[in-house]
Amino acid sequence: MKKIICLSLLIMIILNLSACFSSDKILVEKTEFILDTICTIKIDGKDAEVAIEKAFERIYDISKSTSFYDDNSTVSVFNKAAANHPIQLDRHTADIIETALEISKASGGAFDPTIARVVELWDFKNENPMPPSFDVIKEKMSFVGYENLDYENSVKTLSKAQEEIKIDLGGAAKGYAADSVAELISSFDINYAIIDLGGNIKVIGENPKRDDGKWQVGIQTPFAEVGTYKEVIPVTDGKAVVTSGNYQRYFNYEGKLYHHILDPETGYPSENDFSGVTIVANSALIADCLSTACMVLNKEEAEELVKKYGADIYFSYK
Ligand code: AMP
Ligand code: MG
Repeated sequence: MKKIICLSLLIMIILNLSACFSSDKILVEKTEFILDTICTIKIDGKDAEVAIEKAFERIYDISKSTSFYDDNSTVSVFNKAAANHPIQLDRHTADIIETALEISKASGGAFDPTIARVVELWDFKNENPMPPSFDVIKEKMSFVGYENLDYENSVKTLSKAQEEIKIDLGGAAKGYAADSVAELISSFDINYAIIDLGGNIKVIGENPKRDDGKWQVGIQTPFAEVGTYKEVIPVTDGKAVVTSGNYQRYFNYEGKLYHHILDPETGYPSENDFSGVTIVANSALIADCLSTACMVLNKEEAEELVKKYGADIYFSYK
């Protein structure tokens, strides 16, 4: 039986907050489906209401620039562009591309935004997905390779060596949005905030429920009921906690599980002995790129990569 399962609430802040309204203390919470995932933001403080509105406007803005599926996004304009024709990037797309390409290089191509042509083939959004044929994967693999992108940082333009090349920023945009929203929210008069964009978590301020001010972030047990945690990590103000896993989006076909993180060397879902990785870092954008890359690497390679970025890694097993 073919089945697609999309679990977006992977890790959740373990909190016991009660709503509290007074002139300088307001706790607001909002959830919307943007960036192809469930985005939840909680803010406590005097400006909480205006801050949360502005935060969601920002996420919509980022989605409009970076969406693979929106025909008018900068990503789509680039994907339809001719070879060697530089496309002017907006500031969101440019910031993501700069870091995404750096981590593509640092990970030896385990992270690669040009995986897009193969992601399209796997079509995880289809109601009845099935693995593409080996020959089609092989054909589309000739358009995969971040080395064929040319990013000009001084003018923020991107060009490609072949017209058929496309980019997919799905492995990095949620983390970027979490950083961007965190910065925006911090400019308001607030006490604390928790941003969770499909498992890309960022915390601002101190947890009022604990003497040490730390937040307790639970890591979802792969394939278990949502909210079952295999581990709880204490996190401080400003930290990002980002998880990627083969249990987040997948389908079963003829008894085999096919998940959404593809190995840019083969064009098939990555294979390793763990089911998920959680990265703790200052930048959610870096953590997002790293978590996707680490799902392609083996344990030792993943540990070595995150060390270069001063980040921590936690592996989850089935
Ligand atoms: P994440 O949930 O951040 O791990 O991102 C997974 C998404 O990134 C997938 O749904 C694809 O859109 C895209 N993707 C899949 N494999 C890769 C890869 N090896 N490098 C970069 N992006 C990828
Ligand atoms: Mg990612």
